[in-house]
Amino acid sequence: MRYSWLSILTNGLSGQSGWKPAWRAATPKPAYDVIIVGGGGHGLATAYYLASQHGIRNVAVIEKGYIGSGNAGRNTTIIRSNYLLPGNEPFYEWSMKLWEGLEQELNYNAMVSQRGILNLYHSDAQRDAYARRGNAMRLSGVDSQLLGRDEVRAMYPFLDYDNARFPIQGGLLQERAGTARHDAVVWGYARGADRLGVDILQNCEVTGFLREGDRILGVETTRGPIGAGKVGLAVAGSTTRVASKAGLRLPIESHVLQAFVSEGLKPAIDGVITFGAGHFYISQSDKGGLVFGGDIDGYNSYAQRGNLPVVEDVAEGGMALMPRIGRVRLLRMWGGIMDMSMDGSPIIDRTPLPGLYLNAGWCYGGFKATPASGWCFAHLIARNEPHEVARLMRLDRFRTGHLIDEKGVGAQPNLH
Ligand SMILES: Cc1cc2nc3c(=O)[nH]c(=O)nc-3n(C[C@H](O)[C@H](O)[C@H](O)COP(=O)(O)OP(=O)(O)OC[C@H]3O[C@@H](n4cnc5c(N)ncnc54)[C@H](O)[C@@H]3O)c2cc1C
Repeated sequence: MRYSWLSILTNGLSGQSGWKPAWRAATPKPAYDVIIVGGGGHGLATAYYLASQHGIRNVAVIEKGYIGSGNAGRNTTIIRSNYLLPGNEPFYEWSMKLWEGLEQELNYNAMVSQRGILNLYHSDAQRDAYARRGNAMRLSGVDSQLLGRDEVRAMYPFLDYDNARFPIQGGLLQERAGTARHDAVVWGYARGADRLGVDILQNCEVTGFLREGDRILGVETTRGPIGAGKVGLAVAGSTTRVASKAGLRLPIESHVLQAFVSEGLKPAIDGVITFGAGHFYISQSDKGGLVFGGDIDGYNSYAQRGNLPVVEDVAEGGMALMPRIGRVRLLRMWGGIMDMSMDGSPIIDRTPLPGLYLNAGWCYGGFKATPASGWCFAHLIARNEPHEVARLMRLDRFRTGHLIDEKGVGAQPNLH
C-alpha cells in the first residue's frame, strides 16, 4: 500500500484497521539468484536497488537477528559528503544526492534533515587543512563554506570560544549535510525491497558457505542451506567473522564505538557540530535528546557494548566544547561494532572467490553511505564491474598501495 495523506485519513476514519505489515515474514526458498548477508541499511539498500535498478528480484536478505539490530540502528545518524580525496568525495556526494530524493523514492518518511554540519577548527594548521578540504569539495561541485570565529559565534553562541587550550578559530560548514532517522531508513528500504519481491529472512544466521572448489554456491544457515547464484556480504562489524567461514582474511579490525543520548531538552542545537581538538560530535534529535559520541574504545571486540574509560573521554570532550552540557542528564548509551579498515575507507569489490562479493570497511562513517553503498554494491553484483563512483574502493588497494587514507594517518584504526 502507498502511504499518503489519503491513507492516513481513511485509516483514521476506519479505526486504523486497514494498515498492512510493511514487509512479509518470508520463508526461505531453496535457492535465489542473489543472497545478501546482513539486514542492516547496506544489505537492504543493496537488495532494493538490485530489484529496482537491475530487475533482479529473486533476492533474499539474510539477517541473524532482526533488521536494523546492528549498526544501522545504533548510529548517531549524521549524513554528509565533506570529504577530501577523489576516492571518497564522488561516492559520498552521490550518497547525498540519493538521500535528497530518498523519501519520495521509497514513499517513506526517513526524516532526512539537511540541518548542516560544522567542523570546528582550533589552530592555523587545522584551518589550512579545512580550507584545502573545502576547496576540494567545491571543485567537485559540493557545497562548503569556511567560517571565521565571529560567524561561528553567531550560529552557536554557547560554545566555549575562550577555552585556553582549544580556542575556537572557526569552522568548515556543509549546509546540505545533516541527519536522517536511522531506523526509518532500514524500514523504508525493507518495505521497498519487499514490495519488489525480495525475501527478508530474519532470525536466520549464516554459519558457512556452500562451495565447489573456490566458487561460492550459496550459504549454510540456521534455517538450512540456501543456494545462490551470487552472495554479497554486508555484515559490517561481523565482516571478518563471516568472511573467515569462507577462508578469507581481510584488512579489517572490529572495534566498539559508543553513542550517548541525553534527556529531552528544548531545541538547543539546530545542526551537527564536531569538535576539532578532540573526537566529539553532537546534534539534537527530534525528540529533544542531545545525541553525541567520540572515539572507538580502542581494542578489538565483537561485543555490542562499550567500556567506561571512553565514557569519561567523551564527557571531557563535551565539556571542553560546551561546558553547559555538564548540567544535562545522560539517558542512555550503547555500543556498535565497527568494521575498521586499515586506511579508514570502505571496500566494495569482488573477492578472490567467484560468486562472493564484499561490502565492508565502513568504520564509523557508513550510515551516511547507506544509499550509495546499496546502489554501488547492487551495480557490482548485477554487472560484475564496479560502479564509477566506487571504483577505487578495491580490496587489493592494501596490496598495491593505492590507499584512500582520508586523514593521512596510516594503518591506525583508532585514528581514522
Ligand atoms: C555508535 C555509532 C555511531 C555511528 N555514527 C555514525 C554517524 O553518525 N554517521 C555515519 O555515517 N555512520 C555512523 N556509524 C557507522 C554506521 O552505523 C555503520 O557504518 C553502518 O551502519 C554499517 O552498515 P550497515 O547498516 O549495513 O551495518 P549493520 O546494521 O551492522 O548490518 C550488518 C548486519 O549483519 C548482520 N549479521 C552479522 N553476522 C551475520 C550472519 N552471520 N548472518 C546473518 N546476518 C549477520 C548483523 O546482525 C547486522 O544486522 C556509527 C556507528 C555506531 C556504532
